[in-house]
Amino acid sequence: MAASQPLARDNWYRQEYGSPYYGAFRTDLQAALLDVVGRVNIRLGKQLTRLDDSGEEATLYWADGTRDTADLVVGADGIRSVVRQTVSDTALPVFTGNSAFRGLAKTALLDRLPEPHSFTDWIGEGMHVLNFPIGKDFEYQTIVVFMDGPEKLEHDAWRVPADAAAIGKKFAHWHPAVGQLLEHVNLAERWGMFQVSPHGIADGRC
Ligand SMILES: Cc1cc2nc3c(=O)[nH]c(=O)nc-3n(C[C@H](O)[C@H](O)[C@H](O)COP(=O)(O)OP(=O)(O)OC[C@H]3O[C@@H](n4cnc5c(N)ncnc54)[C@H](O)[C@@H]3O)c2cc1C
Repeated sequence: MAASQPLARDNWYRQEYGSPYYGAFRTDLQAALLDVVGRVNIRLGKQLTRLDDSGEEATLYWADGTRDTADLVVGADGIRSVVRQTVSDTALPVFTGNSAFRGLAKTALLDRLPEPHSFTDWIGEGMHVLNFPIGKDFEYQTIVVFMDGPEKLEHDAWRVPADAAAIGKKFAHWHPAVGQLLEHVNLAERWGMFQVSPHGIADGRC
């Protein structure tokens, strides 16, 4: 089945979902958030190692040996969140059975892309390749290859080496634009796709 959704055309996305669809550099997004929050209350380079909730207050223990107390702790520390693991026994990430390979390329180098200003999904059996423009004037393309497998990946094996030549071969008969996209993707580094249960993510002051 082939399908297309006019993400930008005729205001379709905004009408369907109530807001526009944006592709953005993560650093641009972070800078925009910083502008709203201000830099005064941000401390960089702090790694949380442990969190205690006495009921009266929460204590945060940092890797540099310092600690802080707080009335309320909101964890935004990613899929391997120390905060989440403090409040739930079932918070460890679980492998989905899918993996990804990723890359970034200047749009100007990708002259075979039929629609460089669109979010494009190239779909085949057990795998698909995604490209979408980011940056000012669509300067870069984010490229992600998603594939079924491997069957098993342990929680601590986050990124694992892969056989780039064997994976490249799987796309030998795909559209020439996909071949050009793959030249900019590190097929030797497989990212496991993990997920966590949304249940039990709050307890007491955390
Ligand atoms: C290969 C890949 C490609 C992706 N591509 C896209 C994409 O194109 N578009 C998209 O929308 N999403 C994409 N995602 C998903 C997206 O990255 C995540 O959904 C999103 O980053 C989750 O945000 P988060 O704030 O929960 O966690 P994160 O972005 O992981 O942020 C967690 C933060 O907490 C910090 N941290 C972690 N542990 C500690 C600790 N103990 N102490 C202190 N700080 C800590 C980390 O350094 C980090 O800054 C992709 C994910 C992967 C793996």
